[in-house]
Amino acid sequence: MKSKSTDNKRSSYRRGDMAASDKVRAKKFLGQHFLRSDEVAQRIVDSLSSEQPHVLEIGPGMGVLTQHLIQRTQQEVCAIEIDSESVEYLHLHYPSLHVIEGDFLRLDLTELFHAPFAVIGNFPYNISSQILFRVFDHRDCIPELVGMFQKEVAERVVAAPGSKTYGILSVLLSAFYDMEYLFTVSEQMFDPPPKVKSAVIRMRRNTVAHLDCDEQRFVQVVKAGFNQRRKTLRNALRQLNADMSQVSDTVLSQRAEQLSVADFVTLTQKLQFS
Ligand code: SAH
Repeated sequence: MKSKSTDNKRSSYRRGDMAASDKVRAKKFLGQHFLRSDEVAQRIVDSLSSEQPHVLEIGPGMGVLTQHLIQRTQQEVCAIEIDSESVEYLHLHYPSLHVIEGDFLRLDLTELFHAPFAVIGNFPYNISSQILFRVFDHRDCIPELVGMFQKEVAERVVAAPGSKTYGILSVLLSAFYDMEYLFTVSEQMFDPPPKVKSAVIRMRRNTVAHLDCDEQRFVQVVKAGFNQRRKTLRNALRQLNADMSQVSDTVLSQRAEQLSVADFVTLTQKLQFS
């Protein structure tokens, strides 16, 4: 006979089970921590400019942000949510909302609106970096993002050169976006409370259309530099098998965390790939 606690852990949810008064049970493996504060939700939504006609919300859960978003009638809102129980909740409570049941990481972003769109969300923390890499890859159709991350991740992505937390995403994103740390949100604002603090950041596309170097190489150089971040660039970049003879000794004896975006662009120009 199975114990009651085992039964509770298994998902006994079936589509169509939900009553309007029911709430979604938080599932840890989906990174579900529901924001309880309506005030914080409003503040997050207010941080997104209303200029973009299309908005994609990632992981709406029970719609704490969505309810404010859909009041902005000048914007078309679409949400992607992986959890079928949350999707049913959203259908019940926000019948006119366009919800896609699926995984944001697999969503075809070019087909979504056929036009640029802003991104918003209290993101599932287990896939934050993957979300940001996807945004980077689709930077020309995503002019703005407002999102909640684990505080540590938020600090990392907005970090400036010279800081210990400055890393791959800080360089890649700040090459194309103006990055802003907006505010910190305490654990107690969520149900269930996560173990870490959270923070909201905003990214707005800058005016750089293209970098003054091969952009794929740029990404490789940044990644290689930070993969061994304690090493000097001379050592960290060896894995690229590029000719470094045009790069100055001053640069090669530095570490990746000391280089600005412009420095990485110059470095990429000077490395000769065979
Ligand atoms: N925005 C809600 C929920 C935050 S929790 C709130 O603030 O209360 C994160 C949400 O992301 C959950 O609803 C979870 O089901 C959803 N999610 C997790 N992984 C996802 C993925 N790969 N694609 C889309 N949604 C995802």
